[in-house]
Amino acid sequence: MSDQHTSSQPPPLSSALPRVVIIGAGYAGSHAAVAASRSGKVEVVVVDHDGRHGFLARMAGVAAGRLRTSDARAPLRELIGADIEVVHGRVVRIDDEAGTVTLDDATLLHADAVVVSAGSGSPAGSVAGSERYAATLHNPDDALALRRRLARTDRLVIVGAGATGVQLAAEVGAARPGIEVRLIEIAGRLLPAEPRRLGDDVMSALLDAGVHLHLSTEVARVDRRGVVLGDGRRFDGTVVWAGGWRADATELLPTAPVQDGRAIVTSDLRVSGLRRVLAAGDIAAHRDIIGRLLPMSAQIASQAGATAGHNAAALATGQPTRPARLVELGRIIDLGDRGVGRVGPIPIGWGPTSRLVPLLHLGVDLRHLWQLGGVAVALAHVPSRGGAQATPPARTPLHAVS
Ligand SMILES: Cc1cc2nc3c(=O)[nH]c(=O)nc-3n(C[C@H](O)[C@H](O)[C@H](O)COP(=O)(O)OP(=O)(O)OC[C@H]3O[C@@H](n4cnc5c(N)ncnc54)[C@H](O)[C@@H]3O)c2cc1C
Repeated sequence: MSDQHTSSQPPPLSSALPRVVIIGAGYAGSHAAVAASRSGKVEVVVVDHDGRHGFLARMAGVAAGRLRTSDARAPLRELIGADIEVVHGRVVRIDDEAGTVTLDDATLLHADAVVVSAGSGSPAGSVAGSERYAATLHNPDDALALRRRLARTDRLVIVGAGATGVQLAAEVGAARPGIEVRLIEIAGRLLPAEPRRLGDDVMSALLDAGVHLHLSTEVARVDRRGVVLGDGRRFDGTVVWAGGWRADATELLPTAPVQDGRAIVTSDLRVSGLRRVLAAGDIAAHRDIIGRLLPMSAQIASQAGATAGHNAAALATGQPTRPARLVELGRIIDLGDRGVGRVGPIPIGWGPTSRLVPLLHLGVDLRHLWQLGGVAVALAHVPSRGGAQATPPARTPLHAVS
């Protein structure tokens, strides 16, 4: 815990520059911090439980062993300007009226404006035993723990064929030829929340990687050995529950109206009904310029974070805010050495262009880093694509679909 800016009582308002407190050092929080700091008129404090920025879009590659463990996260301090204070702690309460934020050790921080960018989580599933026995893949700790487990297992059972499930299946299928990978999905196709074409393209990729696919298949329970299906069959192995991401804005914003757990925000990203609290990233129900609800993504979190940081500084200094103009530029699903998706309206299928996807992903990653700290930061934290474990070993494809 930093000992600056903290006390049992909020410091007097006149003691310093107006203060912006940012909750969470992820994609939204890091961009919010940089944008608020660039105003030059506020003191910026980021609160995060360990002060490290997790590169969540790299988690499958880290878990599979294709990327280095150090690619999973980096101290926020290495990515952003030294003038931004990073406080280690977990925020448990925000008081909009009083202008305070309370940490889990009862520390009270004064805040003229607050950006809530606490992200989302991956629930461990609702079937019997899933919470106890299934791993999840949502943050660097999950990825590093799974990487250690995969070093000791020869069978992996992934439940859920959304983006996390298919990425993990493809990465492990390619990087760990000794592991038999099964992907189980209750819907009749892969990526059920995405356009059908994307799911069909990913199917080709996974079959090429030798992944066993079980569509229209329900998991009834998880136990110490593996999963038991609705029809009584069982598959043993390390189980990963990849049932999607979910935000719970009510934990930090109990009075906020929510949609699917995400806080409803105004056009300038203030939480509806609150005066000085903004929300950005997965925790907010962001909309594009024509009002469509945007998916949770690093891309949208970064854009929203930058606007929220700018507006938080404006609110703290009595300046006008600006509306967020969030644009989804595309959607890519990086499967390791290839991938699928679309850039704008242009689809990238499972043909020769699929090899461009990892490069696009790398470009997005570098742009994120460059926007935070410039070229030096981008080069220092470039992921280790092409490292020793990157070349998929030859293997006999198994084309089992049930
Ligand atoms: C496995 C996986 C793969 C993904 N792949 C992609 C991809 O390829 N492309 C893409 O665009 N998106 C991808 N996403 C989604 C993307 O990572 C998220 O949409 C993005 O991280 C959201 O950013 P955020 O800042 O809202 O939250 P996060 O990046 O999750 O950051 C939230 C931060 O808040 C901190 N925090 C939480 N609660 C508190 C609290 N009470 N007090 C203090 N700090 C707190 C957390 O520790 C964390 O550091 C992926 C996600 C996962 C899990």
